[in-house]
Amino acid sequence: LSAAGDGAPAFFSPDMQAKATTFLRMEAELRRALDDGGLVLWLQPKVSLDGLGLTEAAEALVRLQCPDGKLLPPGAFIGVAETTGLIRELSRWVVEEACRLLARWRDAGTGLPRLAVNVSAHDLEEDDFADALLAALARHSLPGNALELELTETTLFAMTDRGLATLTRLRERGMRIAMDDFGTGYSTLSYLHRLPIDVLKIDRAFVQEVHAHPDRAGITRAIISLATTLGLELVAEGIEAEAEAAFLADLGVAIGQGYLYARPMPEAELMAWLDATRPR
Ligand code: C2E
Ligand code: CA
Ligand code: CA
Ligand code: CA
Repeated sequence: LSAAGDGAPAFFSPDMQAKATTFLRMEAELRRALDDGGLVLWLQPKVSLDGLGLTEAAEALVRLQCPDGKLLPPGAFIGVAETTGLIRELSRWVVEEACRLLARWRDAGTGLPRLAVNVSAHDLEEDDFADALLAALARHSLPGNALELELTETTLFAMTDRGLATLTRLRERGMRIAMDDFGTGYSTLSYLHRLPIDVLKIDRAFVQEVHAHPDRAGITRAIISLATTLGLELVAEGIEAEAEAAFLADLGVAIGQGYLYARPMPEAELMAWLDATRPR
């Protein structure tokens, strides 16, 4: 029955109405951003935990610039992009922008040799995703290993044979594949060892206060022995405290990411950060 009590059938409650309005507004915002260059890539360094603090790569995290100057985090629009199919265009923009930055750094002899981009499940189900990626690399004369793809554990777990074939093909071209948010999904050992992946990213849920929580430390140890057995590289994400970093380094985690080192930042800030932290 209608909430207004006028006897008309109610398809939308006021709450659903509000959600629909927000959704449509975000879709319009995203279309505008894709059309007028309103997207930006922020970059977060991946730092070696061996005490030298070398940075060999960064993760690209997309932001949407609103006309009023507000910067929206991906959580506000990736879901909308996936539902509307705009994710296709968004992902292509992210890959192109990452390649453009990498080529510029190479030409200038600065920056980093590799960027990791986040890929959504939808991307890998497209016939031409691999072609588009390889074409972007070729356009900028970049090698396959200039890009790393991050896919969540859940995405990889639900992947079709076609998606897996796409990943295998990209990996043969030198692209590294990382399993993101590891530990939050349902991977089993038997499944994990058949996946075309190179890196496990330990989810922040286990990293947070790992030194003070025996359960998290236990899970992290298990993940590390799993990665070692399977020959996978390890990255810990969301490191915020020195104690977490020291603990993880002791356990044998090679690479860390997190606010302790740097927040995601625009390219110009990353250049200054790299300059300031470069060992000399
Ligand atoms: P993610 O790939 O797991 O990225 C890590 C998120 O944690 C980022 O949030 C990052 O800013 C944040 N983070 C990094 N270090 C710390 C830390 O020390 N403490 C805390 N509390 N947070 C930290 P962000 O940038 O809001 O991105 C959220 C998610 O959106 C990403 O999670 C990723 O799944 C998705 N995303 C970002 N960029 C893209 C993209 O270009 N395409 C797609 N499909 N998804 C993207
Ligand atoms: Ca990621
Ligand atoms: Ca993650
Ligand atoms: Ca995440």
